[in-house]
Amino acid sequence: MSPSTSTSPFCASEKSTYVLMNNDMWFSFLYNINCDEYDMCPLDVECNGAYGFSTKIELKCKSCKQIFNSVFSSPRDDNSKCFEVSKKLVEAFLKIGKGHAALELFSSAIGIHAMNKKTFSKC
Ligand SMILES: [Zn+2]
Repeated sequence: MSPSTSTSPFCASEKSTYVLMNNDMWFSFLYNINCDEYDMCPLDVECNGAYGFSTKIELKCKSCKQIFNSVFSSPRDDNSKCFEVSKKLVEAFLKIGKGHAALELFSSAIGIHAMNKKTFSKC
């Protein structure tokens, strides 16, 4: 089947909603951007805390430790207040007939903190 006749709901030209980012790539991404305080000091990204599949991403200086900005990697669902990404993954795993154990395996394969069973059942 050629891509043009695909029945997939996603089109190659469509913008992805999420990106799967290897944390080692932040260094390359930010290598020529430096902190104002110390001219030569590179910025770094720290991903702190795992809230299901959402992570708090902080842009900070390696030297003076100033935090320039932070954001969660996913918005929250308006109704359940769960992070949208966690909700979508739980829904997908349930749709394919798998539960928390399968999601744990998936998480470990790509090196993401596994969502605990309590969060899984809440999403
Ligand atoms: Zn600095």
